[in-house]
Amino acid sequence: MKQVQLAIIGGGPAGLAAAIAAREKGVEDILIIERDKELGGILNQCIHAGFGLHTFGQELTGPEYAQRFIDRVEEMHIPYLLRTMVLDLSGDRVLTVTGPETGLIQIQAQAVILAMGCRERPRGALNIPGYRPAGIYSAGTAQRLVNIEGFMPGKNVVILGSGDIGLIMARRMTLEGAKVHAVAEVLPYSGGLKRNIVQCLEDFDIPLYLSTTVVDIHGRERLEAVTLAQVDETRKPIPGTERRIPCDTLLLSVGLLPENELSSAAGVHLSTVTGGPEVTDRLATSIPGVFACGNVLHVHDLVDFVSQEARKAGENAALYLAGARAGSRSVALEGKNGVRYTVPQSIDPENMDDTVTVRFRVAQPYRDAALCAYADGTLLRRIPKRILTPGEMEQFPLRKAELPEGCQTITFTVEEVAK
Ligand SMILES: Cc1cc2nc3c(=O)[nH]c(=O)nc-3n(C[C@H](O)[C@H](O)[C@H](O)COP(=O)(O)OP(=O)(O)OC[C@H]3O[C@@H](n4cnc5c(N)ncnc54)[C@H](O)[C@@H]3O)c2cc1C
Repeated sequence: MKQVQLAIIGGGPAGLAAAIAAREKGVEDILIIERDKELGGILNQCIHAGFGLHTFGQELTGPEYAQRFIDRVEEMHIPYLLRTMVLDLSGDRVLTVTGPETGLIQIQAQAVILAMGCRERPRGALNIPGYRPAGIYSAGTAQRLVNIEGFMPGKNVVILGSGDIGLIMARRMTLEGAKVHAVAEVLPYSGGLKRNIVQCLEDFDIPLYLSTTVVDIHGRERLEAVTLAQVDETRKPIPGTERRIPCDTLLLSVGLLPENELSSAAGVHLSTVTGGPEVTDRLATSIPGVFACGNVLHVHDLVDFVSQEARKAGENAALYLAGARAGSRSVALEGKNGVRYTVPQSIDPENMDDTVTVRFRVAQPYRDAALCAYADGTLLRRIPKRILTPGEMEQFPLRKAELPEGCQTITFTVEEVAK
C-alpha cells in the first residue's frame, strides 16, 4: 500500500488552496487526487468574470482565478494525479483510487482533506410530469457544453431556478445567440446574488417570474414547450395561472448538493442541513485527521471564501500532522430564528484563533435586521444588516476575547430591528 502524509481529494479551488497552505506550513509529502483531466474544478467552465475581487482585488474569470493557484502548486512542486478517482475512503484514512497512472491502488494517508465540491440536483428530484424528451439539461451541464465542449444545447430557452448558475447561464445563452424566454423561480425571491440578477437578467431584459414553477413538459422526442404556473405559499400550483412557453431547451438550476458519498462511507458525521461534514473551527470532521473545505462542506457563493476556508483546512492538517490535537472542551455553535446552520458547528475554546469566521445562510430575505450572537443566552454582539438574503453567505467574526468562561453554546440569530 502506498503511504502519503496528506491526501487531498479534489483539485478544485478548495483542494489547491489547502495544498498550498499545508506546504507553506511544512508538509512535504502531499498528493492531490483529481478525477478530471485538469486541475481547477468547476472554475474551468466558469468563463465569466467575477472571481477574485476579495482575494486579488481584481475581477478575474474562473480559469484565470484557478490558474493563479495551479501556478503556485506547480512552483511548489506539489504532486497531483489527474483522471484519477477516489472510489472509497475508510474510517482509518485508506483511500481506494483508480486512474491511468496508478491502476487500482490503495493509499494510506496520515491526514486527508475532503475537497470534492458539489453536484447539481437532478430533474428526478423535482417531480415534473411529462415525457423525457431531449433538450432538458442541468444548468451546469449546459455551461460545460457551451464553454468547454463548444456545443449549443438549443435556441429557445426556459430556465427553472434563479440561483447563480441559472442566472449566469441566462446571460451566457443570450450572448451565444439563444433567446431566453423566462427564468422561473418557485420561491418568492431569487436564490442568486443581487449583482447576478442585475448583470445577467435585467441588463438583457430577461423576465424573472417569482413564485412560479414548471408544471408540464411538452414534446416526445425533443422538448417543444413547457407550462409555467404560479404557486401559492405552500408551493402548490394555482389553477388558472398556467401559461405555455414554446421552447426547445429547459435548463434546471435547482440547487447544489455537497458531494459526500466518500465522507459517508468513511463514517464522517454529516449535517442534515448543509449535507456536508460537521466540522470544528479547525475544519476537522468527526474522524481524527480528516478535514473538509469548500463546496463539499457547504455551498459557497464566492470562491474567495472557498480559498480562505481551504487555507485554514491546509494549515490545520499541517498542525495535526505535527502532533496538535483538539483541547478537552468544545463549545457548540447553532443557528436559530432565521439562521439555517453554522460552519463550523463547534469551536475549541482553548485552541481557537483570536477570531473565527462563522459562516451561514439565512432562511428568508430580511430588511433592516441584525445578526446576533448569544453565549448561553447572553448577547455577545449584534451586527446590523440592511439586507439579508439566502442567496448570499453571511459571515460573523467570533472573537476569542468575547467568549465567557465556561460557555457551552453560542447561538446565532436574525433579529428584525424595531422601527
Ligand atoms: C456555474 C457556477 C458559477 C459560479 N460563479 C461564481 C462567480 O461568479 N464568482 C465566484 O466567486 N464564485 C462562483 N461560483 C462558485 C465557485 O466556483 C465555487 O464555490 C468553487 O468552485 C468551489 O470550489 P471547490 O474546490 O469546493 O469545488 P469544485 O470547484 O467543484 O472542485 C471539486 C473538485 O473535486 C473533484 N472530485 C470530486 N470527487 C472526486 C473524487 N471522488 N475523486 C477525485 N476528484 C474528485 C472534482 O472533479 C472537482 O474538480 C460559481 C459556481 C458555479 C458552479
